Amino acid sequence: MRLKKCAERSRKNKVQRPIVICGAGVAGLSLGIKLRLLGLDPILLEKDAGVKPFIRGEYFQPGSIQKLKELGVYSRLLERNAIRIDRVSHLYRNLFGNKVRRFVAFLGDLGPGIHGLSVLHEDILRVFRDRYEELGGRLSDSTSVSGLSLNPHSCTVEVGTEKVEAQLFLGCDGKAGVTRKLANIPSHSVKVDSQTRVMIAGLVKGLRIAKNEFLTAETPAGVLYAFHCNRGDIRVYLCVSKSRYDHLKSDLKQNFLACLQSSIIPGSADAALTAPLWVMPSMDRMATARAKMRAVWLGDAAGTVDPLCGHGMNLAIQHACKLAELISQNGSALECETDSMEWLAQIKKFDRATRRDYLHTRFMGIWVANLFMQDSKWFRLAKKRAISRYQKDARLLNHLMGLFAGMNKDSFGFQDLPYLLGILGSRRRDQIMSLPLVQKSAPIQNALLTTPIPLFKYLFKSRFDLKTE
Ligand SMILES: Cc1cc2nc3c(=O)[nH]c(=O)nc-3n(C[C@H](O)[C@H](O)[C@H](O)COP(=O)(O)OP(=O)(O)OC[C@H]3O[C@@H](n4cnc5c(N)ncnc54)[C@H](O)[C@@H]3O)c2cc1C
Repeated sequence: MRLKKCAERSRKNKVQRPIVICGAGVAGLSLGIKLRLLGLDPILLEKDAGVKPFIRGEYFQPGSIQKLKELGVYSRLLERNAIRIDRVSHLYRNLFGNKVRRFVAFLGDLGPGIHGLSVLHEDILRVFRDRYEELGGRLSDSTSVSGLSLNPHSCTVEVGTEKVEAQLFLGCDGKAGVTRKLANIPSHSVKVDSQTRVMIAGLVKGLRIAKNEFLTAETPAGVLYAFHCNRGDIRVYLCVSKSRYDHLKSDLKQNFLACLQSSIIPGSADAALTAPLWVMPSMDRMATARAKMRAVWLGDAAGTVDPLCGHGMNLAIQHACKLAELISQNGSALECETDSMEWLAQIKKFDRATRRDYLHTRFMGIWVANLFMQDSKWFRLAKKRAISRYQKDARLLNHLMGLFAGMNKDSFGFQDLPYLLGILGSRRRDQIMSLPLVQKSAPIQNALLTTPIPLFKYLFKSRFDLKTE
């Protein structure tokens, strides 16, 4: 009934067929807000009844901040006590594995106003929802999309027994990708093996961490991330390999605390959990296509990326803004029931560009994870070298940011950069620094120097160990 009412309102507003967004997560809400800001009137359908408390993305990378401002949610997040993170610290042991060192970087040194943001996912969704509704956006909770059929000029969206003819279907329904499967678009997934990573998330009290700090630390089991949560306590993510997790899971709570205590984070001896642990396999999965005729998928529905890089929300927001602009530019062609050629050409380009972003982020996630989880002497050497490089040469860091960022120069996780620096040998470093392209343009650097790597890796992997669901 709800769906029909929404469609009737579209007709009253003289829009014949509505734009339907499926899923009110970060991707769907960003898309809804941006479309409203561009003067369009989508219908947002959410299967759950309102916002549920659960653990999801809680750290916005610096690359998201500009977009959050553009959507008009940034100051509202700060009103919810969102914590500005402008310092990155890493605790590590020296080459012989005993003395503990601390590496600190200030994001502000990389450019004015560069910082990340820590906010509970529940609060993020509330702020995004408020903003969408304030702009007059239509949101229908407890409405689950159950069917979808596509043709080049329109699509039919089913909710239970109701059917609505829409001009566009925007799938933001999360990692299960149900609507993508309804459109017969499978996903590539990497085989689960002993190297697959598992993320264990906990809320902890007792740690002594500066409020503006994103702290990473090594433990014998894996890597820990810790930062303040906007509602008090400290969010800790422990990322371990699947084989390690199989050992930990017999008494997860106890083992999680033991890992935390062995991490040498100040105050870890007194650490105590304040909420149940949340376990999530860090499975990379990417749709074989992100668009088909009059349907486009975004966020986790298009592909999940390794949480080690903390980029899921970043990709979702960036792609939502890009897509909303594309829709607004093609408004008249989309309303028309016959002329789709221009739209189809544009959406193909969008598909290619977003695929590149996913591949890039996935590649970085795997790379960073390997570095974090390797404990051999070679890797310790690489880390040591990376850190001293970073401390010597902040200009190089800026260039590398361009090289590794994928979409724009500050979208990559700063906390991981010291490791990346360690990978480049000094000869290669000078070569890269002297490339005129490197010195001139971040987008060209990205296109020329980073894209082929994940792309080749992806092509290589798809021959050997990627399977299609
Ligand atoms: C433990 C953990 C930590 C993470 N940490 C970070 C981080 O620090 N930084 C970061 O950027 N990212 C992080 N991520 C990833 C990030 O949370 C996701 O990439 C992001 O939330 C994806 O948003 P989304 O809107 O695509 O999907 P979701 O948030 O999954 O939203 C999908 C929505 O669609 C709805 N839905 C599903 N099916 C239907 C249907 N049939 N009809 C209608 N509605 C439907 C769902 O109810 C849901 O509300 C983390 C993820 C996890 C699990």
